[in-house]
Amino acid sequence: MLLAARLAIILCLPIFIAVVLSAQNAKVSQPTVWASKPDVAAFEKIENDRLAAGQRAIDTLLAVKGPRTIENTLAPFDEAVHQNNSAGYFAATTTHVHPDANFRDHATTMLTKATAAQTAIALNHEVYNALAALELSKADAATRYYVQRQLLQFRLAGVDKDDATRARLKKLNEQSTEEQSMFDRNIADGQKVVDADPSELEGLPQDYIDRHKPGADGKVRITTDYPDSLPVFSFAKSEDLRRRLTLAFNTRAYPKNQEVLSSLLKTRYEIATLLGYTNWADYNAADKMIAKGHNIADFIQQVDDASRPLAEREFQMLLAEKQKTNPGAKEIWDYERAYLSESVRRSRYDFDSQSVRPYFPFMQVKQGILDTAADLFHVSFQQEMNVPSWDPSVETWVVVDSGKPIGRFYLDMHPRPGKFSHAEMSAVLDGIRGKQLPEAILVCNFPEPTATDSGLMDYGDVQTFFHEFGHLMHHILGGQQQWAGVSGIAMESDFVEAPSQMLEEWIRSPQVLAKFAHHYKTGEPIPADLVVRMNRASAFGRGFWTARQNALTAISYDIYKTKPDNVDLDQVTLEDNRKYTLFTPLPETHMWASFGHLGGYSSVYYTYLWDKVIAEDFFLQFDHQNLLNGDAPMKYRRIVLEPGGSMPANDLVKNFLGRPQNMTALQHWMSEEFDGGAPTTKPAGQ
Ligand SMILES: [Zn+2]
Repeated sequence: MLLAARLAIILCLPIFIAVVLSAQNAKVSQPTVWASKPDVAAFEKIENDRLAAGQRAIDTLLAVKGPRTIENTLAPFDEAVHQNNSAGYFAATTTHVHPDANFRDHATTMLTKATAAQTAIALNHEVYNALAALELSKADAATRYYVQRQLLQFRLAGVDKDDATRARLKKLNEQSTEEQSMFDRNIADGQKVVDADPSELEGLPQDYIDRHKPGADGKVRITTDYPDSLPVFSFAKSEDLRRRLTLAFNTRAYPKNQEVLSSLLKTRYEIATLLGYTNWADYNAADKMIAKGHNIADFIQQVDDASRPLAEREFQMLLAEKQKTNPGAKEIWDYERAYLSESVRRSRYDFDSQSVRPYFPFMQVKQGILDTAADLFHVSFQQEMNVPSWDPSVETWVVVDSGKPIGRFYLDMHPRPGKFSHAEMSAVLDGIRGKQLPEAILVCNFPEPTATDSGLMDYGDVQTFFHEFGHLMHHILGGQQQWAGVSGIAMESDFVEAPSQMLEEWIRSPQVLAKFAHHYKTGEPIPADLVVRMNRASAFGRGFWTARQNALTAISYDIYKTKPDNVDLDQVTLEDNRKYTLFTPLPETHMWASFGHLGGYSSVYYTYLWDKVIAEDFFLQFDHQNLLNGDAPMKYRRIVLEPGGSMPANDLVKNFLGRPQNMTALQHWMSEEFDGGAPTTKPAGQ
């Protein structure tokens, strides 16, 4: 899968809305801010009230005389976390989903304000001292862990440094934010265009050709935007067009981002060394599961060992495909990978991804995913009707467990102008046991059903729906904690993609598909042999996909583990590509300039593969003949999801698996194409 496809399923940061849902009564009226008529003043009042409540809680905490207790110190601290999070979530959500552009602009301003409030606490020496003075010997494990983790976060922000250092850190952090946003903006603005002869579109789907008519000069314009470029990489018969477009694609934001990225590396290196770390990669690992920078290097090596034999085997299959038209070929260029993969899938598996769409009409898929999640997590879902929201298409649902509401979510599933264009789960409220139920929104862009169109979804869309629902259930089931600061997905950021990637696997189960994948016209269930071919076709290429992800992981780590003066961006990129993948990189490209994760993720791109390893290990603990069988589903809910961020994620993994994660399940997942379809047995030793 290309980077673009991974981008579409990343979890964006949580988000928020203004509903206090009582634990006893799920039918609480909605705030007027979601009424169809935009009311900026009401929105700003809610936000300012929250931020003021957060500040009052901090003032209360600081006014305490005498011994620091959980009641007089941690409780107001958590109240401030909760209020500021709520303000931040609400503002961020609004920027992503509100239909009114002016409203979105106000929300952006409010988001900056909420972020500033959070930063001010993170650098507040007195608040740090108050938490550090807490007497915790009689506190429960979750409370002790919460405080310990908060103190670490404070130290990572530099709160215990002298005034001059803190002032310098503040400046560097502002600089880093600015440089990162410049890096992102250059990529967003870095679109390039390639002119093609109409004959070069041979092999592309007819609807693509229809959308790309030649201009007055007889040339077709193809941009480097994903909807334009990805089909060319996969389907265009013209090798020259694919090569030209790849060259344009991998030189986006170049040379503009050379200076920006170099400055960003220097800024971050200085932050890390001021805080006593050797480099940014090491600093940035300190509050993660992986703990140390050099553990990333070890992980890269393990993934390489696990994936190389299969990646080589698949590479030979691609080479054989290439040799059908080029008998002397010995190597495969980077830009040939997607096209040759597609050819192999067609010739070897007789699978055309268009053939499954009639079995995935939106309404059926939605119901199927709700039913599957209800069975798996032992909950039920009740729709609330006539709830005001920011768009008439939005649905509101309550999650019910043993007759009691435990959370609420909103489904905003279809595209509209001005809306966030990828897919995300956005937190709306953190759950606090006995005080407030967790809430979240799924923001997606799936085809919308109409009177004449069933809204047929692609395989990838359905997989994305499962993925985001995995985040949602984690937020809701993990949102029954005593403290907002450890609720739901408030945990090590290199764990949060594990539950979502685990639920993605459900789409491959014939048992699950049989429930809802029925032909939109005939009602006929998806044929078993089509599921087998779909699973095998989607499994082909996992070896070199993993190797490619590993190369990106290595680039992200190697750039940030080195002193910036010694980093040659072109050299690192070229060497890691050569080291971890078998494909020949196109010369004169500079893909780092448009590798957006180098800004936001910096050195932690490993997160995707790290969580993939965990997700596959989790998934193998279920009975693949019947995923709902036995105690695995309830055990997964209780041990992995319900604790939220109240204990180290490494412990969640160990408690569920009985050991730390290892590479066995990933190897199994990668080689399924050769084992045949969905897994039916656990590998030896599991
Ligand atoms: Zn995700």
